[in-house]
Amino acid sequence: MADSRPERPWAPATTVVAAGRPPRTPDAPVNPPLVFSSTFVGAGTPGPQDRTYARSANASWEPLEEVLATLEGAREGGGALAFASGMAAVSAVAALVPVGGRVVAPRSSYNTSVELLEQLQAEGRAQVSFVDVADTQEVVDALGDGADLLWLESPTNPLLEVADLVACAEAGHRAGALVAVDGTFATPLVQQPLALGADVVVHSVTKLLSGHSDVLLGAVATSDPAVLQRLSTHRRVHGAIPGPFEAWLALRGVRTLALRVERTGATAADLARRLDASPAVDRVRHPSLPADPGHERARAQMRGFGSVLSIELVGDDDGARASALVDALRLWTPATSLGGVESLVERRRRHANEPTTTPRGLLRLSVGVEDVEDLWADLEQALAGLE
Ligand SMILES: *Cc1c(COP(=O)(O)O)cnc(C)c1O
Repeated sequence: MADSRPERPWAPATTVVAAGRPPRTPDAPVNPPLVFSSTFVGAGTPGPQDRTYARSANASWEPLEEVLATLEGAREGGGALAFASGMAAVSAVAALVPVGGRVVAPRSSYNTSVELLEQLQAEGRAQVSFVDVADTQEVVDALGDGADLLWLESPTNPLLEVADLVACAEAGHRAGALVAVDGTFATPLVQQPLALGADVVVHSVTKLLSGHSDVLLGAVATSDPAVLQRLSTHRRVHGAIPGPFEAWLALRGVRTLALRVERTGATAADLARRLDASPAVDRVRHPSLPADPGHERARAQMRGFGSVLSIELVGDDDGARASALVDALRLWTPATSLGGVESLVERRRRHANEPTTTPRGLLRLSVGVEDVEDLWADLEQALAGLE
């Protein structure tokens, strides 16, 4: 039987489809089977995978991890690990910081990641300096003479700020820090933080990677064998493991990632342009716009601009107009989360833990795969209805 390994590296659009398949033996399934087993047969002699118990190693995670490691460009000895949620993955990376250690992290970023770091700070377990991650000099200054972890998110949720990943990773390493990037908004198809100098990349697989708003899952990838080992041990002893069915669903979603990233990215850029021209809209945040502060950086370090954009309406300091707009939409679903095939809209400050750097009226729009004209017509009628 021909080996499925490529003679030259596959393009990411091929990897998402072709990697993580069972060996091509006669009668073998094309898709990895779901394995519901908490324990594996063993009596002294380890099998080829050395599985013993499903918290340590699990046949259902391995194909997904293989695809993610390949997409992230993790080198030999490194790899990817699936976690029970994006936050389980973020927590595993945060746990690499020694007690009392120094962390530099974005002030404006995913609200629960900020909440986690604030909690570590409040408990005296870490000293955290929150910075404007788009301001490289502020990041460099905060790293000072030494830090244990430089936590980056780019583009940020929900302000779509773009960090200079190469410059920040270099500064982080000069300060002796482990450099981790939450790349959820970009996916590995649009941005490869390891190639830009990061040590670890983190994803909420819940979002674009899974793509159907039906599963919570997280992942980390690294080229560093020692870091991989520590994260793997953390997952085993803390127990934040994905269920087999969740991992299977995520892999099924990943198979169409290239198509979805292309379509949703193009639609998001199109809608960003149209919204930017609307007199009712005060500000559109999307790195595709030439006037966006992150545009040049995004062009330099990303292959696309992502499928999430944020808007603020004219004369909406309290967010009342934003809420009215959400109520008037018929196709866009009012819901949190992002990266699914269905378009979602949300006023972020409705969450108590949202950083106050997010404007009260900011609406985050996650663009799905619907027809662009239908999405625009819905926005247009809702904007027209605001008096
Ligand atoms: C959603 C999200 C997370 C958390 O992921 P969960 O799967 O919800 O735990 C982390 N980072 C970013 C940027 C996110 O959007």
